Amino acid sequence: MAESVDLPIRLAILPFRNKVLLPGAIIRIRCTSPSSVKLVEQELWQREEKGLIGILPVRDSAEAASTPSPGVQTSKNQEETSDSHKLNGKNQPEVIHWHNRGVAARALHLSRGVEKPSGRVTYIVVLEGLCRFSVQELTTRGTYYTARIIPLDMTKSDMDQVEQDPEFVMLSRQFKAMAMELISVLEQKQKTGGRTKVLLETVPVHKLADIFVASFEISFEEQLSMLDSVDLKVRLLKATELVDRHLQSIRVAEKITQKVEGQLSKSQKEFLLRQQMRAIKEELGDNDDEDDDVATLERKMKAAGMPPNIWKHAQRELRRLKKMQPQQPGYNSSHVYLDLLADLPWQKASEEHELDLKAAKDHLDSDHYGLVKIKHRIIEYLAVRKLKPDARGPVLCFVGPPGVGKTSLASSIATALGRKFVRISLGGVKDEADIRGHRRTYIGSMPGRLIDGLKRVGVCNPVMLLDEIDKTGSDVRGDPASALLEVLDPEQNKTFNDHYLNVPYDLSKVIFVATANRVQPVPPPLLDRMEVIELPGYTPEEKLNIAMRHLIPRVLDQHGLNFDFLQIPEAMVKLVIQRYTREAGVRNLERNLAAIARAAAVRVAEREHAIPLSKDVQQIASPLLESRLADGADVEMEIIPMGVNNHDISQALRITSPLVVDEAMLEKVLGPPRYDDRETADRIATPGISVGLVWTAFGGEVQFVEATAMVGKGDLHLTGQLGDVIKESAQIAMTWVRARATQLKLATAEETNLLEGRDIHIHFPAGAIPKDGPSAGVTLVTALVSLFSQRKVRTDTAMTGEMTLRGSVLPVGGIKDKVLAAHQYGIKRVILPERNLKDLAEVPSAVLSSLEILLAKQMEDVLEQAFEGGCPWRQHSKL
Ligand code: ADP
Repeated sequence: MAESVDLPIRLAILPFRNKVLLPGAIIRIRCTSPSSVKLVEQELWQREEKGLIGILPVRDSAEAASTPSPGVQTSKNQEETSDSHKLNGKNQPEVIHWHNRGVAARALHLSRGVEKPSGRVTYIVVLEGLCRFSVQELTTRGTYYTARIIPLDMTKSDMDQVEQDPEFVMLSRQFKAMAMELISVLEQKQKTGGRTKVLLETVPVHKLADIFVASFEISFEEQLSMLDSVDLKVRLLKATELVDRHLQSIRVAEKITQKVEGQLSKSQKEFLLRQQMRAIKEELGDNDDEDDDVATLERKMKAAGMPPNIWKHAQRELRRLKKMQPQQPGYNSSHVYLDLLADLPWQKASEEHELDLKAAKDHLDSDHYGLVKIKHRIIEYLAVRKLKPDARGPVLCFVGPPGVGKTSLASSIATALGRKFVRISLGGVKDEADIRGHRRTYIGSMPGRLIDGLKRVGVCNPVMLLDEIDKTGSDVRGDPASALLEVLDPEQNKTFNDHYLNVPYDLSKVIFVATANRVQPVPPPLLDRMEVIELPGYTPEEKLNIAMRHLIPRVLDQHGLNFDFLQIPEAMVKLVIQRYTREAGVRNLERNLAAIARAAAVRVAEREHAIPLSKDVQQIASPLLESRLADGADVEMEIIPMGVNNHDISQALRITSPLVVDEAMLEKVLGPPRYDDRETADRIATPGISVGLVWTAFGGEVQFVEATAMVGKGDLHLTGQLGDVIKESAQIAMTWVRARATQLKLATAEETNLLEGRDIHIHFPAGAIPKDGPSAGVTLVTALVSLFSQRKVRTDTAMTGEMTLRGSVLPVGGIKDKVLAAHQYGIKRVILPERNLKDLAEVPSAVLSSLEILLAKQMEDVLEQAFEGGCPWRQHSKL
């Protein structure tokens, strides 16, 4: 700290624009103007011992004009002003308003900046204010000013005298107290250890006043007035005032921050309270805050029983959701995702009761007629599960035409096991994402069908039916079958990965059952994981039994009817089977029966109007009615008692006799018969037509083959949506017939070319249905032989079999279904390849006994049986 200094009478002056340097203050300035650079160079830089300079405040002219300061030395200013013109090298007169008091300063540090290419240099000077002086006279020295000065510092004796002054003592005490307070406030805020307090004890109070004030941000006017306070008492008073003001402003600022902080913590407090309130409500079971969507979701998630790793994942996602606004994109998808996680049955399982095989068998028997072998196999399957509940036996796959009871058998398995049942339809699934879901990055992404099914069923151990597993196909969007492989593989399905779900799900508790119409389209690896149980179609007798025992009671029940009202006699059911349905299963039969029940229900509704009033029907009279009656109007109102209403139709009609379905009603409801036994005879009215038996996804079917000849160049035309194999069969048939034309007496010896001058057209009717397979070989030959020989094929005979180029008849598949179809069609004779004899064991004996089965080894055997009176060539030979 500067002690009192001996000032020279003349000091070089550095003007300070709108600023004041107070004694005790330290400042750092950069000198760039030529005059100040010159001053620094000459007065400080080039001197050996550090020199002193005077700092004199200068007021801006604009400011001076508005607030003229009494301290401005006008007379000298005039003189300096003109000087300054020269100094600035400007033509415009610029008035410089010098203050008449300044502070002598000592350079504590000097540094010279790098010389610019223009040759200009700059200086950085650190100055310490030492003591006040007043300016006597201002003159120029070269490019800068000098001033003759009088120091304003007190001498030692002056000081001693002042210190005796009680007013000064009081003021200095007051100031010190104030300063002390300020220091403690600042120290508290900035956590500086008591260094500043040391100042208070060591530095004389009048200097302290300057030092304190120098550190405040105060206006130029206030700085000037501080500089002008030469009198110690005035200076202390002013400084006390400024310290006090500073203290006040710190306090106000503090209060404001406290207030803001207080507000912040208020919202935090509110949050906490709300949380507590929620917890209390939860404890009380008082969950009326349903509107709080996220809270509900969280509760649901907690109750879902997720495994720990999934719970962690879900919580992460929930935290993300909580930070989002409901309007924000992504909020919804996140919510839907968490909803799914919460809805999935992670642990919830239907309790598997002790399996009672006898009860299961009874249940299967009561639900399904026939199917003895299949039911037996199901019981075996259940028995294995009973002995070893976690046995990972093969997946059962029911294969058969529609409506043969595949789905209902699977559902019976679920009932027998006491588990829930869920059906996943795979028909037409070509996209792997249908099984595995889409990743959540896709817009509109969804979980796959399996996860969706599990969400629907709500337990983790249902019986899951993978329906129509043969109808999945693969294309560019991946292979659903490979995803299914993972599902059915006990090693892999513990951690089934749905792309949408993105966390593994354990499918190992699910019992899978599959259905398919045909085995062939099922990819072999998938088939390898399943045990195929074939359900062939039903015979008409079986259908009749199913209808009488199961379908009719169920249909009546579904329509609110019973036997007291509607009776469908057996004969009528037979007619429905023969004339209105021609299918392997019983689905259409059930539909037709339902149509009859609907029609009956309408009749009931109609009859209801005609119900005679029973004795408890009341008549009512109201004032309104009375007045109307008084007018002579003939109004009557009835109230029908509660027991009689539309919902209980059969009740209402107990009094009437049951409606018995007859042929007339059948025709009225179902329309004219769709099929009849005479159909084959009608269709085979001309030569060139034969009857084949084919096998489709819907079971066995009767397929006509028509051939005709016309003028042409020997071409063969084929129509009727045919696949490559069947087209080749047609070529083979044609070749075989042509090769044996003479032998078969189809052509004379001279005219050996059957196709001479004519084209042949072969058509397979029902052109909308795609057909393929080799089993039409014998039928094609028969049609061609019939055409060329102009002899009709027997109307009661149908055939099936593949034929080689040399005329051998090869065995074909689906014999049981084909024979059943023939039987149903009213066909009496069936020609089969000899090697299919073993397959006849599957055909119910009732059907076999009503048919004549003819076995063929060679094509000639077929022809022999197909024509009335044997093969055409024999006829010829007889002649
Ligand atoms: P699929 O799944 O093979 O297409 P469903 O299982 O849906 O056939 O069966 C169609 C309808 O026929 C169902 O109402 C079913 O109960 C009934 N059904 C099929 N077979 C029998 C049967 N053997 N006994 C009783 N009802 C049957």
